[in-house]
Amino acid sequence: MNPTEYNSHNDGEETRRQLMYIDKLTEYVTGLTDKIGHAPKACVVTFGCQMNARDSEKLLGILITAGYVETEDETEADLILYNTCSVRDNANQRVYGRLGVLKGLKKAKPHLMVILCGCMMQEETCVNKIRKSYSFVDLIFGTHNIFKFPELACRVFESEGGIVTDIWAETDQIVEELPVRRKYSYKSGVNIMFGCNNFCTYCIVPYVRGRERSRDPEEILCEIRNLADHGVIEVMLLGQNVNSYGKNLDTPLSFAGLLRKVEEIDGIRRIRFMTSHPKDLSDELIDVCAHSDKICRHLHLPVQTGANKLLKAMNRVYTREYYLELVDRIRTAIPDISLTTDLIMGFPGETDEDVEDTIDLIRRVEYDNAYTFEYSKRTGTPAASYEGQLSPEDMKRHFDAVLSVVQETARARCALHTGETTEALIETVSDHDEGLVTGRLSNNLLVHLPGDESMIGQIIPVKLDVCKGFYFMGSRS
Ligand code: SAM
Ligand code: SF4
Repeated sequence: MNPTEYNSHNDGEETRRQLMYIDKLTEYVTGLTDKIGHAPKACVVTFGCQMNARDSEKLLGILITAGYVETEDETEADLILYNTCSVRDNANQRVYGRLGVLKGLKKAKPHLMVILCGCMMQEETCVNKIRKSYSFVDLIFGTHNIFKFPELACRVFESEGGIVTDIWAETDQIVEELPVRRKYSYKSGVNIMFGCNNFCTYCIVPYVRGRERSRDPEEILCEIRNLADHGVIEVMLLGQNVNSYGKNLDTPLSFAGLLRKVEEIDGIRRIRFMTSHPKDLSDELIDVCAHSDKICRHLHLPVQTGANKLLKAMNRVYTREYYLELVDRIRTAIPDISLTTDLIMGFPGETDEDVEDTIDLIRRVEYDNAYTFEYSKRTGTPAASYEGQLSPEDMKRHFDAVLSVVQETARARCALHTGETTEALIETVSDHDEGLVTGRLSNNLLVHLPGDESMIGQIIPVKLDVCKGFYFMGSRS
């Protein structure tokens, strides 16, 4: 278990208020411990992206500081928190499905505290549905006020029934220096910005995460120095569009400029970042990546579709020609870079020709991997009311056609590395074989090799012996 850390030097008033509430929460948790005869257990479940995973580490840090013990088993928990995602409808449906099960748990254990937070809670229809159908929930809060969690949890202990609800429409506040419980001892996500200003027409993120706000560079660097002091060797800088980092700071700083400063931090050996919007990816950034020993050889560059007509309808603000030219520039400057992407199939109006354009783009770029999604209609986004919504059958046909090409390209790219000697950061003992460990290469590929728990967190030289499609079996070299 990793120590709980305080993540920066900011001494804001709100931070002090919430630290005071953590003390108060600790008293309530002590009372609960006396009542149930053991330290209460907290189960934090994350849906969605790395940003949510990082938020969950903050929420868990607060709970552990107040006296809860972490568990991954909901049936033995005294507090269950779902940090939700609403990018696609199936994420929402999964939460409702699991809430049905929680209803039974709550009945059997009335002191169980059920908490919902994250993107879904910023949607009025979701909150109304929870109020109506899942009234056993104790606390609901959104994405803009997660720093208020200690105060809100205290309110649940003080409440005499009903759902404690606190949802903000917007914020420009960034509250620093609350406890964080990292999932991994050797790597960590680091938020560099929050929100998004891009309004891609299919996407709900700008509505549920608000406008773009960059963190002060000194706060970010201080957090990373602190992580390095606690043994972290890899950081992943997180934002919906890291390439527009710094534009709203009092003293603007480019993302490339921030990376240069992160590179100087002793102890940090690997730097990753996501996500990069193609429209904002600068030559300065390509240059910094090309000349860095620490920035990993992997760039996630979501294209969404290869059809110009759809890129326009999606409000992505680039054309396939621009994207392909950008890929050329990146590959020329960094020949060993691995490129991955996100693809949406079945956007309103998508024709067979559009799918051919996407397949053609995939073959030209030769992606190392791609996340492929069926378009999901999100209420409130412009695309939800576009004409030409596809039938489930056409959606699936388009999806399957693209997926098979993505897999073919990814397999071919992976195989190119067979026999290479490179470095891997050992992340876990393999789930399938206790005698194997799993390492991640700079280019984000995984390798399984003989080893044990003591290797976790080390960067070691490995030989990529056998390509197994999308990963390698290897050996220490
Ligand atoms: N900010 C990042 C960017 O611009 O690429 C990505 C954030 S979004 C949470 C991750 C991915 O989800 C997107 O790149 C897109 O492919 C997918 N996505 C977003 N909205 C979607 C929707 N309504 N239906 C299907 N996929 C969606
Ligand atoms: Fe959504 Fe587009 Fe913002 Fe990414 S850039 S979060 S896809 S609106």
